[in-house]
Amino acid sequence: MMVMVAIAFFPLKSHSMAPLQYKATIVSPLTEATLQDVLPKFTDKNTSVATGSTPVEEVAPADPSNYGYRYLTDIDGNPANNAMIVVLHETVGSANSAINTFQTPHTDENSQVSYHSLIRRNGNIVHIVHPQMRAFGAGNSVFDGPNGPETVRTHPVFPGSVNNFAYHTSLESPSDGRGNQRRHSGYTEAQYQSLAWLIAHLPVPDERITTHEAVDQSGSRMDPRSFDGRKFLRLLHGYNRPY
Ligand SMILES: [Zn+2]
Repeated sequence: MMVMVAIAFFPLKSHSMAPLQYKATIVSPLTEATLQDVLPKFTDKNTSVATGSTPVEEVAPADPSNYGYRYLTDIDGNPANNAMIVVLHETVGSANSAINTFQTPHTDENSQVSYHSLIRRNGNIVHIVHPQMRAFGAGNSVFDGPNGPETVRTHPVFPGSVNNFAYHTSLESPSDGRGNQRRHSGYTEAQYQSLAWLIAHLPVPDERITTHEAVDQSGSRMDPRSFDGRKFLRLLHGYNRPY
């Protein structure tokens, strides 16, 4: 848990919460003001940049129906204290269409969906859900990492998922990636640069970075398709990360 200590900005556990009655006193509903308040801290670290420049950041807050609080315990009352993982996705549709979906109120729980952030083709990072909150980026899912299988069930109807301890970020797909084909033309240099910059500021070691395809248990997810993991890691390792 030294990771949590090293970067106080994302102390996932201390911001986790379980009982509904505490909701109002711990975290205010996400507003543009609170997100804006957080953003400068992204660049305010000891993390040093080896190459590239600081990406442009935008804020497009999701509707509160599309995200929630991180739980302290699972549905059976067991502690849910997993360290953070990063789950990589792609949007398939355009970035703006994804943002529009996240900003649309959804009363049907099956339609509630969000990422914490996405990265446009031009490399701009769009912050959508506060990292302290629980974005709804993966359904039925398990992270099979160095500590064995990790998943947290928080809902009586839905299977366990990684959402309780995940930071979900998504790359805007190219226009030839709109369908279900296995491959497309891939992501821009600016997207790889921004992704590395973003992940370098999260308290997550390499072995806790994964993809939606890898954690998905439904057999229906294959994102991010055509992702060059070696290129991404090379860029990520250009940063001095304290963990
Ligand atoms: Zn996905």
